Amino acid sequence: MSPEGVLSGGLQGPPAELLLRDVHVLDPRAGIDRRLDVLVRQGTIAELAEPGAAAGESDAEVIEGGGRLRVLPAFFDPHVHLRTPGQEHKEDLDSGTRAAAAGGYCGVIAMPNTEPVLDSAPLLRSLRDAAAREARIPVGFLAAITRGLQGEQLTEMAELGQEGALGFTDDGEPVESAGVLRKALQYQRLCGGVLALHEEDRSLSRDGVMHEGALSAALGLDGIPTVAESTMVARDAELAGYEDARVHFQHLSCSASAQAVAAAKARGWRVSAEVAPHHLLLTDEAVRGMNTSMKMHPPLTGEGDRAALVEALRDGTIDCVATDHAPHAREEKEVPFEQAPMGTTGLETAFAALYSGLVMPGALELPVLVRRMTAGAELFGLEAALIARDRPAELVLVDLDERWTAGEHGWQSRSENCCFSGRRLQGRIQLTLAAGRLVHRDRAPALAGAA
Ligand SMILES: [Zn+2]
Ligand SMILES: [Zn+2]
Repeated sequence: MSPEGVLSGGLQGPPAELLLRDVHVLDPRAGIDRRLDVLVRQGTIAELAEPGAAAGESDAEVIEGGGRLRVLPAFFDPHVHLRTPGQEHKEDLDSGTRAAAAGGYCGVIAMPNTEPVLDSAPLLRSLRDAAAREARIPVGFLAAITRGLQGEQLTEMAELGQEGALGFTDDGEPVESAGVLRKALQYQRLCGGVLALHEEDRSLSRDGVMHEGALSAALGLDGIPTVAESTMVARDAELAGYEDARVHFQHLSCSASAQAVAAAKARGWRVSAEVAPHHLLLTDEAVRGMNTSMKMHPPLTGEGDRAALVEALRDGTIDCVATDHAPHAREEKEVPFEQAPMGTTGLETAFAALYSGLVMPGALELPVLVRRMTAGAELFGLEAALIARDRPAELVLVDLDERWTAGEHGWQSRSENCCFSGRRLQGRIQLTLAAGRLVHRDRAPALAGAA
């Protein structure tokens, strides 16, 4: 992907000079699954050679992989909340992209539900300038579909597109009016970019604070039925098909939504979808203890929905993993469950949580996970990381044996509302290279599971 194009930032520091000796390279898209030397020179993958064969420059740092450490293409997250401008006490461009780098990401896309809302070209320009100075890894931006996320008047989509918006979303809010969305789809067809949709029928979700089911009834909490999401996915897929427009469904949380996406794809409509790690790994049972880190939108659903989402990710109905990284300050989350804001952080735990929770038990193959964690870039017209000669170094070095407890050494994110906090995880990112730069080096030494 080209950070000079529509992405901003990630060009701090010198290009990497690094020899990763005898590492197990896995890149499904490049068709590589074997032990190699990877030489990075001037930020570019200069050599992929038989183990021991690559000759590093004398000043290149050499890291010994022992045939055991993995090198994967770095991940891409098309859905994060960096909270800037306006809520920098939760996160900012520096802290959010540090968290992303620690999680193995070489690019993220920030949502526009900031204060003020990112709905004008001058604001987008200033945000891109700020990202160029402060972001550790390249950041792309989605602008709002409607002014102020009010769901009424469309933003100047063409102008925002020219200013570098990768697409449009009212994330945090649904576009309730089918007529407004239809108009947005017609503009999108003309000016390009992807329309990303947070699907929620507010007349169904109302004041719900968790998944509607046996547990919400037992706890006496207002529930959000899964049809609040799935009926909107079905409606908007059909609108996209009718207008031959390109839409992306954000954070799917239930089986019926995945079925609606599958049906839309079968009809040739130009739709794609993402799912968050928490919806793949947790159910509404996690809410029983009223931990506010388990409160997010859409809410954690039932086991049947969770299992269906894993299967939809596996078979490609759902195209990619997106964290919906949603930082909130401690004092905002330390309130009764009903009053707490929705959202969990996720950038620093996504890979390890999915590796531990899905790959190790055999529910998902590692190459499929890697593919789904990188594919978000392509959905927004960018190139995904690829481990190949002469490509910019966008890769991670991972120790799949290392066990760690989420949050034990704190977080790079400014917020700590992570639903996986305190969980024992396996698989740790040792190094991340993004835009040819070394953007993250794990400080905690490998203790357990060493060969
Ligand atoms: Zn959302
Ligand atoms: Zn979101």
